[in-house]
Amino acid sequence: MKTFVFALAACLTFGATQAQLTPFELSKDKNYTANYPEVISYYNKLAKTSPQMKLINYGMTDIGKPLTLVVLSRDKIFDPALIKKQNKRILLINNGIHPGEPEGIDASMMFARDLLKKNVLPKNVVICIVALYNIDGSMNRGLSRINQNGPSAYGFRGNSRNLDLNRDFIKADSRNTLALETIINTWQPEIFLDNHTSDGADYQYVMTLIETQKDKQNPILAEYTSRTLSPELYKRMKQSGFEMTPYVESEDESPDGGIISFLETPRFATGYTAQHNIISYITETHMLKEFNKRVYATYDFMQALVDINERDAKLIGEVKAKADEQVKQQKTFALNWDVDTKNYDTLTFKGYAAGYKPSEVSGLPRLYYDRSKPYTKTIKYFDNYVATATADKPVAYVIPQAWGKIIDLYKLNKVAMRQLVHDTTLDLQMYYIADYKTGQRPYEGHYLHTGVKLTPTNMKIKFHAGDYVVYTNQTLNRFIVETLEPQGVDSYFAWNFFDSVLASKEGYSPYVFEDVAAELLKKDPGLRKKLDDEKLKDPALAKSASAQLNFVYHNSPYFEKTYLRYPVGRLLVNTKLDLK
Ligand SMILES: [Zn+2]
Repeated sequence: MKTFVFALAACLTFGATQAQLTPFELSKDKNYTANYPEVISYYNKLAKTSPQMKLINYGMTDIGKPLTLVVLSRDKIFDPALIKKQNKRILLINNGIHPGEPEGIDASMMFARDLLKKNVLPKNVVICIVALYNIDGSMNRGLSRINQNGPSAYGFRGNSRNLDLNRDFIKADSRNTLALETIINTWQPEIFLDNHTSDGADYQYVMTLIETQKDKQNPILAEYTSRTLSPELYKRMKQSGFEMTPYVESEDESPDGGIISFLETPRFATGYTAQHNIISYITETHMLKEFNKRVYATYDFMQALVDINERDAKLIGEVKAKADEQVKQQKTFALNWDVDTKNYDTLTFKGYAAGYKPSEVSGLPRLYYDRSKPYTKTIKYFDNYVATATADKPVAYVIPQAWGKIIDLYKLNKVAMRQLVHDTTLDLQMYYIADYKTGQRPYEGHYLHTGVKLTPTNMKIKFHAGDYVVYTNQTLNRFIVETLEPQGVDSYFAWNFFDSVLASKEGYSPYVFEDVAAELLKKDPGLRKKLDDEKLKDPALAKSASAQLNFVYHNSPYFEKTYLRYPVGRLLVNTKLDLK
């Protein structure tokens, strides 16, 4: 910090250009990342002298500070609707979701300044930069990423509620998420970039890249990104001296056995933006490279992305429109994915020889990378995924207004919703939750449900005036289906939004119900047969008086029909409804 204060004092005598240097550039060894007040004050100063730049605050984050969006617009138009009307593209860059991975924060400050001062803002692209997303975490400054090579201090991963904001995009527990989702749905970018730093293996690259997994991505967007945009990014980064590799995630400890394409499910920023048909990338600079190289690599990546976006502006607009149209018509949606381990590609990888030696801590074998033995070899690249669960969309979902958080999130996401004018009884397909598993310990503040099994049941359900009808003819179909289908890996059901339907509310005293149950069995031979059949199949039931009583109760008209019934209905037949 002392070094920085000195450097800043010194620069004041050098005139205007020096004053526009960022705290990172002013630091002696370029091993410094700007803190939150420095970031905001830097952009504020820059905006004062730059009419092509505007700072817009959104919402409030959990720590009580607004989320600042830096908008760079060559024509000085800062109204997203007007920008859309002019058929310009919008690029959104997010920084500091993990404040311990801060390259994007510093690189974006330099990048914005250079675009303005060199007067090279793109004609066809408006650039929006989230200056520092996880403000909370960034204010909790220290050295919490033990393996990372600089900067000298940086923020903490969790926000002030100790949430990892890059797992919060569906459950939206933090106010940071609500603010960022407001930005995304207000500006509706065609391209989104989230800047990070990697963990994991050692290798030669400074920069690695995650692109939306191609099998999960909208096929029209995937066609453009996998054939044009991504190869071009790799090419340009190689030319700029920061050759990239796909993000290094592997089954084994070292990448020698192959790397697996990262699957960003909807809980992640880029999984959520993929649901909105936004082309999405995550940069992951390598934690062991010097901080300044990581910052400059991030800068160069953003430059390449802006340049290609500018070059392909018209095409990207067309591709996005086509993808939006396709998803409106799409009938079946994947809800979960698994890597196809049998069907892999290969790639050329520049790594370091990995080996094992005795640990000085435990005496047991430990992994190490020998940087004196760099290699270039062909490794397996597991970049094919297959859907493990799918759902056919209904004509519409019907959501009781009682589930207010979902209604609020749908409004925020600009999902088109209508409301029933009158109390209305509808013929719907309802799901009964037949089975599910729940984590034993909380994950990001929730006990996630997985392995959900459903029993679809057609029935009449009474809804109330004001309940919501969500037709599935929307560009947001994917977001709608993936959040409302309980088997979705990041569905609202998985994230505990509907847990209250998983417990029954009433019961019985056995000594009283014995007589009622006996009467029921006498009057209903079908029920008697059902019980007898079940006893033959299940010896435990045959031996247990209480289990048989319970069986009769569950199959009686007295049993609550809402127990384990998923409350969102599926309208399968287009029915005329009185809606407002
Ligand atoms: Zn990260």
